[in-house]
Amino acid sequence: MDWTEFLAPPLRSLAPYRPGITEEKLRRERGLREIYKFSSNEAPFSPSPAALAAMQGALTQSNRYPDAQALLDQLAARLHVPLDTLVLGTGSIDVIGALVRAFVSPEHNVVLSEYGYCAYPAFVTEQGAALRIAASGPHFGHDVEQLLARVDGRTRMILVDSPTNLSGQSLDATALTRLVDGLPAHVLLILDEAYAEFTDSSAPRDTEQLPLRHPNVIVTRTFSKAYGLAGLRIGYGIAAAGLIDCLNRIRPPFPASRVALAGAAAALDDVAYLKRIVSATLSGRRRLTDALRAMNVTVFDGNANFVLTDFGLAAKTVYEGLLKRGFITRAMNTYGLPTHLRISVGAADEVEKLLGAIKQLLEATSDNTTRGAYR
Ligand SMILES: *Cc1c(COP(=O)(O)O)cnc(C)c1O
Repeated sequence: MDWTEFLAPPLRSLAPYRPGITEEKLRRERGLREIYKFSSNEAPFSPSPAALAAMQGALTQSNRYPDAQALLDQLAARLHVPLDTLVLGTGSIDVIGALVRAFVSPEHNVVLSEYGYCAYPAFVTEQGAALRIAASGPHFGHDVEQLLARVDGRTRMILVDSPTNLSGQSLDATALTRLVDGLPAHVLLILDEAYAEFTDSSAPRDTEQLPLRHPNVIVTRTFSKAYGLAGLRIGYGIAAAGLIDCLNRIRPPFPASRVALAGAAAALDDVAYLKRIVSATLSGRRRLTDALRAMNVTVFDGNANFVLTDFGLAAKTVYEGLLKRGFITRAMNTYGLPTHLRISVGAADEVEKLLGAIKQLLEATSDNTTRGAYR
């Protein structure tokens, strides 16, 4: 029986999302004891003690459906936005998926960057809508002029991850202003800021306020990265109240669990923990960048909790050699980049171990015959 015939026609060309290799999978398959995961841009530390305590408290009340009000109140106060401009999701990707489902129909198209987040196109295809792909700019960042040039009368949405999931390049304030000011009234801009907390001073400030001034801009953020709660699956969006009202018509009841809500609320309060993650990440990123460049590896400029690297012909050997030693990195061949590896910033000691392993592997492959691009 070919069940794909049962699938709604727009869904037939889709493939399931392939996450990076998990620790559990590598342990099962290779029997390795020590595993270091640098493939999904998670925080390298366990959640803050305050978040853990709050989650434990929430567990005992798991017989009751959750109430999101406390977290929403806290977010509204922290971000200085009205309560009715906030929406929670099972991760921010859930909010983004819901936005596409709510607002994009088969007669529309959606504008994406060539090297934008690879999870977006499926949402658009699912709606039976067309993709319009804009060329990316330097370091795989978004090129605002290219994005705006792809907009036509049928465009309903532009999806932009800043910093990007691929290289960590983010739009600077000038580029973002140009994009927002250049948006026609019939187009929504989704600004996916999963890595907002890691950006430097060149990144635009107070972007959470944008939807209040520009009602066709929607900003999404997450607890998965800088708050160290990827496993909980909780994120949020900020949008004009009228858009949130539309979105709520298609939201499932209770998108975030009681445990996730409690963990997120406590994490939001634990500013010291956030600062610790961010500062450890920034110094780890510096160290990784400098050390890899000293080994003649190309490292792209980015603003997030990972680095995109180009190992050239050594990519496959390095990727597989690392995996054999228990270091999981992300091969970017799914983006059509066979020589690029993306490496999340780990804790300081993990970074040193990784650098040691890379150095060894590069020395062993300096003999050209063993080199080959990762495919
Ligand atoms: C990691 C990431 C997310 C986060 O997704 P969650 O569902 O919040 O865990 C969203 N967008 C991009 C570009 C990411 O890299």
